[in-house]
Amino acid sequence: MNTAIIRLLNVSRVFHALREHPGSSQRDIARRTGMDRATVSAVVAQLQEQDLLERAQKPRHGRAGRPETALRLAERAGWFVGVRLDPQEIHIVATTLDARLVAKRRVPGSSDVTTAVRRVGAVVRELAAAEGVRLKRIRGVGVGVPGLMDREGRLALGPNLGWHDVPILDLLRAALPVPVYADNDTKAAALAETLFGTCHNVMDFVLVIAHAGIGSALFQGGMLQRGWRGYAGELGHVKVVPGGRACGCGGAGCLEAYASERAILERLRERGRICAELNEVAGLARRGDAAATEVLEDAGEKLGTVLATFVNLTNPQRIVIGGGLAQVAEVVMPVMERVVVRDALGPSRDGVEVLVSELGEEAVAMGGVALAMDGFLSLPSWLSVGQLRRRDAGTVPAP
Ligand SMILES: [Zn+2]
Repeated sequence: MNTAIIRLLNVSRVFHALREHPGSSQRDIARRTGMDRATVSAVVAQLQEQDLLERAQKPRHGRAGRPETALRLAERAGWFVGVRLDPQEIHIVATTLDARLVAKRRVPGSSDVTTAVRRVGAVVRELAAAEGVRLKRIRGVGVGVPGLMDREGRLALGPNLGWHDVPILDLLRAALPVPVYADNDTKAAALAETLFGTCHNVMDFVLVIAHAGIGSALFQGGMLQRGWRGYAGELGHVKVVPGGRACGCGGAGCLEAYASERAILERLRERGRICAELNEVAGLARRGDAAATEVLEDAGEKLGTVLATFVNLTNPQRIVIGGGLAQVAEVVMPVMERVVVRDALGPSRDGVEVLVSELGEEAVAMGGVALAMDGFLSLPSWLSVGQLRRRDAGTVPAP
């Protein structure tokens, strides 16, 4: 690995050590990251120069010697902003540099790309103005987009937005005078799981998120798998019923035509149950409504079938369920798990943990924050979270 990249890695490690353990001293950081004291000291000086750190005297616990300085990422250093660009609703969260939520907004989505992009720009400006944060203090805006995003930020196909071949990253960058990053919504959320969620030290996991559609993101050996052009992970379009229900992609019988948030609501509407969101469906099922229970159990069955194949192919340590599915997890998960146990090969599925994301409804928006954080730390995209976690990835001496 070349020296410039190792320097970036060192900055990232110190940044994340302070984000996860505010109040650490340089000695604590060296211990946590496995970096030597001189390198930590050089990186701390660099962050200080960029006005990103706050210092305070660390309380002494009877230890002799010079008092240590407690370091933290400065509150005044600015914001990261995360966005979930969904056809129905756009979710926007603003956080401090250590990813503490400071504000959030929801505005209606739009099937018109220009309108949606303009709305994102307007809300970010409005939020910053309302909280008295100057635009140049926004260190990055990350946007999770539902659909097939290539490596250059072009949306090749967004079945639920009705968009195809849209240079979404360029449009967003033109709308905001701050650094902007964009990726597929589930891939962004998976990055958030590794940074702030349930997969902090997990190298092999799959995240499945259902909103209007269903997406998945796979980490193997700490690396996000993107595939040749970047389109890997379209679990929602695996066919579960030959010639079955119509899907937004133009195909029929796709998983997301049965188990996405939109599909579950639609299937209930066909059975005379009008629900606006999955929380209501969960409520109906809890009160013993047969239609709600059947639709949710069927969604769990189909998810389980697809995930059993996924487990056979990729042997994850964890399966994490998020987005709208988290709201109906109490009914969907037991069925899904039963089917995975029934259908996947014993050795592949033994010990696989199935959990619900702790990031809840804001998983994708927090994914946007994770994208912005990665962009701010300017890590090349091939550098994995796994590499950050490895203490033996190498450090270079202070310049
Ligand atoms: Zn489809």
